[in-house]
Amino acid sequence: MKVVIVGAGISGLTTAYALLNSSQFDVTVYEADSRPGGKIWSDKTDGFLCEKGVNGFLDNKPKTLQLCGYLGLEPLKSSDNARRRFIFSSGKLNQLSESPLSFLKSDLISWHGKLRIIYELIAPKGPEDETVADFVIRRLGKESLEKLIDPMCSGIFAGDPYKMSIRHCFPRIKELEQNYGSLIRAMIKLQKERRKGSGVRGQGSEDKTPIIYFVGECAGLLEEIKTCGADVIGIDWRINIDDAIKRLGSRFSVQGNLDPCALFLPKDKIRERIKEVLNRASFARGHIFNLGHGVLPETPVENVAAMVEMVHRLSRK
Ligand SMILES: Cc1cc2nc3c(=O)[nH]c(=O)nc-3n(C[C@H](O)[C@H](O)[C@H](O)COP(=O)(O)OP(=O)(O)OC[C@H]3O[C@@H](n4cnc5c(N)ncnc54)[C@H](O)[C@@H]3O)c2cc1C
Repeated sequence: MKVVIVGAGISGLTTAYALLNSSQFDVTVYEADSRPGGKIWSDKTDGFLCEKGVNGFLDNKPKTLQLCGYLGLEPLKSSDNARRRFIFSSGKLNQLSESPLSFLKSDLISWHGKLRIIYELIAPKGPEDETVADFVIRRLGKESLEKLIDPMCSGIFAGDPYKMSIRHCFPRIKELEQNYGSLIRAMIKLQKERRKGSGVRGQGSEDKTPIIYFVGECAGLLEEIKTCGADVIGIDWRINIDDAIKRLGSRFSVQGNLDPCALFLPKDKIRERIKEVLNRASFARGHIFNLGHGVLPETPVENVAAMVEMVHRLSRK
C-alpha cells in the first residue's frame, strides 16, 4: 500500500519509521522546508551544539526511550538543577513551589487565586476534550491560567493555551481529572499509594524519585555499579537475582528479570519461573519485576498478558 506523509517533523518521521517496519507499506514523506525535523533542530556552530527550540523530553513513556534505542541515540539526563523552575512575573523571578506550604507562602498567585485553586476539589468534570485554557479556567481559575499554565505552554510548546487541546498536549492531566474527579485529590491519592508502594524509593527521602540504572551483562561489575549513585540496579536475567542482592547489599532495590524466552513455555511453567524470580528477589529492599531485554517479536501476546496477571497475583502481599 502506498502511504504519503505530509511534513517531516517528529510526528511525520516517527509515523514513517513505524510504517517502514512493515513491508506492507511504500512510504513517501514530503517536507516543505529545506531540512527535515520541523521544530526539532540541532545546529553545530564552531564546535558548539545548539538545540534550537526543543531541548528535552519526558522519559515517562517507555516507547520514547525505546525509539531512541532503535535509532542509536543516547539522551543525556537533565541536571537536577533543571527541576527548579522560575516564572517571571510582577518584575521578578518567582521560583515554582515544590510543596503545598511553599506555594501558600509564595506571592506568585494572589490569595484570591489560591482560594480559587482550592475550589478545584469540587470543580465539575469537563468534556473529554477541550482547550487547555477552558480546562484550567474551569478547574483552577483564570489567574492560574495566566501566571502558571500559560508560561508552561509557551515553555513547552511555544503554544497558545486557547488553541491547544488538553487531551493531546497534557493527556495525563486530563486523565487524572476523568479518573479522580479532581487534580488535587488525584495527587494526594497517588502520593499515598507511592508511599505504600513497592519499596522502590529514592534514597534519603521517601519522596525522591528513584534513579534506576539499567545495564546488560553486568555480572562482573556489580561492585563498581554500587558506586554510581543509583537507587535501583537492573539485574540481567543471566545472573541469579538473589546472588546479585547479596553482592549489592541492603541499600539497593533491584529490577529484574525473567528470561524473555520463558514466555514461550506453557503457562504453568511460566508461573514457576515467575515465582522463582519473585522468591529470589524477596529479600531486596524493593523489587521491580521485569522482562530482561523486552518482549521478543514472536512471543504469544496472551502469554505476556498472563505473565502480568501472574506477577500481580503472586506478588500481592
Ligand atoms: C520553541 C519551542 C520549544 C519547544 N520545546 C520542547 C521541548 O523541550 N520538549 C518537547 O517535548 N517539546 C517541545 N516543543 C514542542 C515540540 O517541538 C512539538 O510538539 C513537536 O516538535 C511537534 O512536531 P510535529 O512533527 O507534530 O510538528 P512540526 O515539528 O511543526 O513539523 C511539521 C512539519 O511539517 C512541515 N509541513 C507543514 N505543512 C506542510 C505541507 N503542506 N507540505 C509539506 N510539509 C509541510 C513543516 O515544514 C514541518 O517540518 C517546543 C516547541 C517550540 C516551538
